[in-house]
Amino acid sequence: MKYKYTYRSLHLDCARHFFSVETVKKVIEGISYGNLNVLHWHLSDDHGWRIESKKFSKLHECSGEYYTQEEIREVVAFAKEKDIEVIPEIDMPGHNLALLSAFPEYSCKGAPVIPAKARGVYRTILCAGKKQTLTFIEELLEEIIPLFDSQYFHIGGDEAPKDEWKECPYCNAKMKELGLTSYEDLQGDFTAQVCKVLKKHGKTPICWNDALLASNIPEDVVIQYWTIDYAKEMKAFVENGGKWIYSDMFELYLDYPHSMIPLKKVYEFTPHLYKYPLPNQDGCIGFEACTWTEHIDNEKDLCEHIFPRIYAMAERANGEEHTDYESFKERVREKIKLLEKADIPYTKEEWWDPEGKARRNDAIQFYLNMSAGVDEEEAKKQAASAAPKLQFILHFIKEFYKISDILAFLKALF
Ligand SMILES: [Zn+2]
Repeated sequence: MKYKYTYRSLHLDCARHFFSVETVKKVIEGISYGNLNVLHWHLSDDHGWRIESKKFSKLHECSGEYYTQEEIREVVAFAKEKDIEVIPEIDMPGHNLALLSAFPEYSCKGAPVIPAKARGVYRTILCAGKKQTLTFIEELLEEIIPLFDSQYFHIGGDEAPKDEWKECPYCNAKMKELGLTSYEDLQGDFTAQVCKVLKKHGKTPICWNDALLASNIPEDVVIQYWTIDYAKEMKAFVENGGKWIYSDMFELYLDYPHSMIPLKKVYEFTPHLYKYPLPNQDGCIGFEACTWTEHIDNEKDLCEHIFPRIYAMAERANGEEHTDYESFKERVREKIKLLEKADIPYTKEEWWDPEGKARRNDAIQFYLNMSAGVDEEEAKKQAASAAPKLQFILHFIKEFYKISDILAFLKALF
């Protein structure tokens, strides 16, 4: 069978919450029913570092559970049997509190930090000015790269606040040395250095679309589009013939509940870059649905978020004839028989497309949970932003409230 896209993927965050090898295998088994061919495995973040390092054992000891190198190889081999490639993600320079809790010397200030407990974007990130930071990253990557046989290697590049870089003598000296005028370009240079290491090992780097804020990131980096914040930069990148992956957060983020992103929505999306129509889709290598796990901590909940919505994206990525939604649901019911046989949890049909009051209440509950826990003392001290972004709130209002609802609400107030 000839598929429409060469990259058909599920992203799985095992850094915010850890999931056992057995659960990861179940997820791989389940996505194989939809002919996906990639698992993007998010293995490091502010909350945890999940890969055993024989060179730097403090790393995996810093944040609780992790996968041994043997277990990683086991997962990669299991996926390979199902024609699924496992792409690791080591996010940098942001989202690194766990790594820095073990090795604080690689941040700008070198002050102790602890792994994050709450959702948020944290200010303390890797220092791009210290030479030893890059040396450390290089050694670490040389240890991790051989564990995976994927063509691609994801290096994140998202949500990296520059507060500490601006005050750092090392970062500022590096800027001067390189003749850079913006801190975003300092990230661009950092990314370029890391890309060099990856390319030396024959890997193609992938970054989130935040990385496009830098004017100097290598042109051959594959960009994963998730946020409308940098849609303009994304449009320019696409127009210049860059290669990219579509993961719009309001269509393909499966950690959002069905009330936010119903099954039908995942089936019917049309790739776009926020308000910019797509100039062309030639550079698009495929689609990826993301499952972040700040608020998901068990197998049942995880699988119910993924299945069956992933099959809607899968059909689109496979390029199967885009027929009507009712006949798609027939095919989903067939897949569910397979999930049941393999003891893989999934969302029951009555909640595939929630409506009315139940839908709105569920979404409100999700929204409230998003902000829950963020006022813990440490989080408060370290977080650059913990609350959902403005674009999220605006989307939420647009999705659930009509002008008449808002007017009625205001009328009731005054
Ligand atoms: Zn620095």
